[in-house]
Amino acid sequence: MFGPVLLAASRSDRMRRAVAAAPVTRPVVERFVAGDALHPALDTVRALTASGLNVTLDHLGEDVTDRATAKATRDAYLRLLEALADDGLGARAEVSVKLSAFGQALPDGGHDIALANVAEVAELASAIGTTVTLDMEDHTTVDSTLGVLAELRKEHPQTGAVLQSYLFRTEDDARALAVAGSRVRLVKGAYNEPARVAFQNKRDVDKAYVRALRTLFAGDGYPMVGSHDPRLIAIAQELAARHHRAAGSYEFQMLYGIRTAEQRRLADEGERMRIYVPYGADWYGYFMRRLAERPANLAFFLRSFVPA
Ligand code: FAD
Repeated sequence: MFGPVLLAASRSDRMRRAVAAAPVTRPVVERFVAGDALHPALDTVRALTASGLNVTLDHLGEDVTDRATAKATRDAYLRLLEALADDGLGARAEVSVKLSAFGQALPDGGHDIALANVAEVAELASAIGTTVTLDMEDHTTVDSTLGVLAELRKEHPQTGAVLQSYLFRTEDDARALAVAGSRVRLVKGAYNEPARVAFQNKRDVDKAYVRALRTLFAGDGYPMVGSHDPRLIAIAQELAARHHRAAGSYEFQMLYGIRTAEQRRLADEGERMRIYVPYGADWYGYFMRRLAERPANLAFFLRSFVPA
């Protein structure tokens, strides 16, 4: 019931200012975000990778409306990749990017601006031996994001994309991307989507997830199972066994701070487990989507306003 309200609030500047100004917000945000800046985030990355986990780093930011900020996003990722290379973390750490932070929504030539900015990031990622995954945002951006993916894959075939099972189109997209060399993270989807483009009911979203999982595991690509849902994780493991996929020919991914015991369990079983680690000052949209996913998170957040 609160989900759609929180997702609408995630795009409100007034709410952004109110939530950011509340003194109790920070400890709750820290459960999901690995610090305001690169260096604290790198401490988290070192700890996770030392314990046998892999990571994908997200420099937080989205919905950029001017070219200078889009360039600043590119520069932040270039600094991040340089730091990963300096620390020798390239083998276990990759990066996730939101094209809206690279200028995708700019009115004049946003698609091309985002492509030019992200291409520099993909170039450096390849040079240091790591990969880029393009996060998926709301449905209006999917064609452009998959277009950028196709362009990047010409030079950097290991570039990954995200598909969202709640979208009706995803079955077709999964079929098109289940090809050799392709890396696809399958998630349920975190945005507020209208009924004309997306399943509204959890059962339908879960069923669609299983259909897309089947396609990805049967294909020749590299499936990345982005979910905390125990049922879907078990189904992915069954599909891996059915298709004789060795550990390392697919992976599991979960968000930083969510179901950490399950992250450990899968890694200890020998699965490749990657943690999505967001960092940076622009945490608001990401944080609100995490609250929207789970009423208990909202209750935890609201309880923190009550003096002990
Ligand atoms: P759910 O049914 O929502 O959750 C299953 C169980 O996981 C819950 O019962 C609970 O125990 C736990 N859980 C799930 N979410 C939370 C939470 N917020 N707080 C605490 N516990 C929780 N979405 C996009 O639209 N685009 C993306 O690019 C994208 N990238 C992602 C990358 C990764 C690595 C992951 C894991 C998710 C990503 N998502 C993205 C979010 C995704 O779409 C879902 O909104 C989110 O993962 C919740 O769905 P679920 O599959 O975990 O299942």
